[in-house]
Amino acid sequence: MKRETVMFRFVPTMRCNFRCEYCFEDNSLKKNSATMFDRYSVDEWVQAIKQFNKYDIELYLWGGEPFCIEETYDFIKKCTEVDNIISGFRIDTNVFFAEKIAERCASDKIKLNCSYHMQYHTLEQEFNKVKILKKLDMVGMVNFVASKYNIEHLKNDYGMTVKDLIDKFAEIGVFVNVAGDFAYANNPKYEKYEEYKKFILQFVSPEEWEWLRNQHKEERLCTAGQKMFTVDFNGNFSSCISDRSYGNIFRGELKPDNEYSYCSKCCPSLVSYPFRCDNDYSSINSLLRYVERNEKYRKTIEQKYIDFEF
Ligand code: SF4
Ligand code: SF4
Repeated sequence: MKRETVMFRFVPTMRCNFRCEYCFEDNSLKKNSATMFDRYSVDEWVQAIKQFNKYDIELYLWGGEPFCIEETYDFIKKCTEVDNIISGFRIDTNVFFAEKIAERCASDKIKLNCSYHMQYHTLEQEFNKVKILKKLDMVGMVNFVASKYNIEHLKNDYGMTVKDLIDKFAEIGVFVNVAGDFAYANNPKYEKYEEYKKFILQFVSPEEWEWLRNQHKEERLCTAGQKMFTVDFNGNFSSCISDRSYGNIFRGELKPDNEYSYCSKCCPSLVSYPFRCDNDYSSINSLLRYVERNEKYRKTIEQKYIDFEF
């Protein structure tokens, strides 16, 4: 019998080894914040997950930098050995620890969302780290934010355009996502807004642009309370769809909603919006499906690449 797939979202820690200027997190949190392993060990977490064998489970890990704490490696390694944890799950990373990831928890079940932070990695460093992980089939995509800093550095330091960057990673079969910088892409008052939007739409489909900017604000049905749960450090399950308690992982208790519910919250994350009922996107392996959709979209573009300057 086919098992229902549910997503368990974990934040191993908000700590991070980088201090990107545009980061939404406070630097003090990046240095000292708690971890999911402070109270429960790796084995306790893995045993807890194993109780949910009536489901197929997709993990999603973000942060902070999940791999800046030791326990994450063991946790991931042990999780990838659990049969009903499905392949293709996303972990967000800055790839600084690529070599250690390859050594300690290599698995093609994992598809990393590799953010390229230009203040910290040269292009060659980033490329070589991604290449190591790609050889292990662990790369979902490289994420490049089309910020002023990044575009100017790409041009001045490497004589490259965004298109050149995409082509470089394409040589090793890696898709580069070009994310609009919120400061411009989410600001219609920016004097070059239309030009910037056109530039980004060479890489991201217009539909996806809208979902990523929460431009479908109306109340909508959503399956989040049935299929997607955040697991807090104390093991409690919660959902963005309501404030009710959805059980606790250590008690082996998950109480999903019986029916779809309505939600009108801001929902601009590509992990989240596929759970909405007002689009047809697959909520399973959402990162890989996003890459496929946009790869397909890019092939439909006939016009010649147009560069952008801030
Ligand atoms: S790598 Fe990510 S989490 Fe870390 S400082 Fe940069 S933006 Fe923030
Ligand atoms: S619409 Fe988005 S924010 Fe609302 S419950 Fe669904 S996934 Fe969560």
